[in-house]
Amino acid sequence: MKFTDFNLEPSLQEGIDSLGFENPTPIQEQAIPAILEGRDLIGSAQTGTGKTAAFLIPIIQQILKQKSKDSIQAMVIVPTRELAMQIDQQMEGIAYFTGLSSMAIYGGGDGTDFAQEKQALTEGADLVICTPGRMIAHLNSDYVKTKGLKFLILDEADRMLDMGFFEDISKIINYLPKKRQSLMFSATMPREIRGLARKILKDPFEINIAVSKPAERILQLAYVVHNNQKIPLISYLLQNNKGKNVLIFCSTKSSTKDLSRALNMA
Ligand code: AMP
Repeated sequence: MKFTDFNLEPSLQEGIDSLGFENPTPIQEQAIPAILEGRDLIGSAQTGTGKTAAFLIPIIQQILKQKSKDSIQAMVIVPTRELAMQIDQQMEGIAYFTGLSSMAIYGGGDGTDFAQEKQALTEGADLVICTPGRMIAHLNSDYVKTKGLKFLILDEADRMLDMGFFEDISKIINYLPKKRQSLMFSATMPREIRGLARKILKDPFEINIAVSKPAERILQLAYVVHNNQKIPLISYLLQNNKGKNVLIFCSTKSSTKDLSRALNMA
């Protein structure tokens, strides 16, 4: 299957081509047609499966088809600023030739950021990607244009519940039009997530992308250590595996910087 099989708007197809995406991933093959049909959706899929483009592409397509000005068209709620930034970057790539606007809205910035966010929300950016607390800070004043909103996406819903965002999410949803298409993605499907899905989704299309198994012959190990032991342990492991390529994942921007600094000094 190819992306061209979905008959997308030329400006959207151009963005997909420019990113070098040729074939849809399994979640995209299932999610794109269902979302284009207007179905609500619950997807169990992790980062790395292509789930971001699985919802961005059909939503951009629908916004292009029925663009009404003067309101936010789609809202993506995510647990962390890092994820908000990542989704915004993908949006910028995919929607590059479409003329649609997006804005990532997250806490932790300064007053200038807040003012820029306020402007985007007042002018009705087509798509906003937000963390719950920051969105509520904006919604408490009444400049946010949500009246014409048509799409709501909850990404990494299980993480949001773990982080205690349930109330905030419910509050945000109360500000949104009832008639909308809602999508929810979660790596795991505990009972609480099923409950949330029943509350906000109507007759959802379900997708389960099996968690991919690590390749055989790869040894997986976990070391339980205190924070201050992590860098010495990594240095030790690198010393003992000289000449091998190593890819290290960190949970935040600042821990990535700290580790890189420490390893450069070692
Ligand atoms: P995600 O699971 O949404 O975090 O996506 C993981 C990575 O896969 C991102 O870097 C995307 O740019 C990339 N990606 C998503 N869809 C495709 C596709 N159909 N073909 C190639 N790469 C893709």
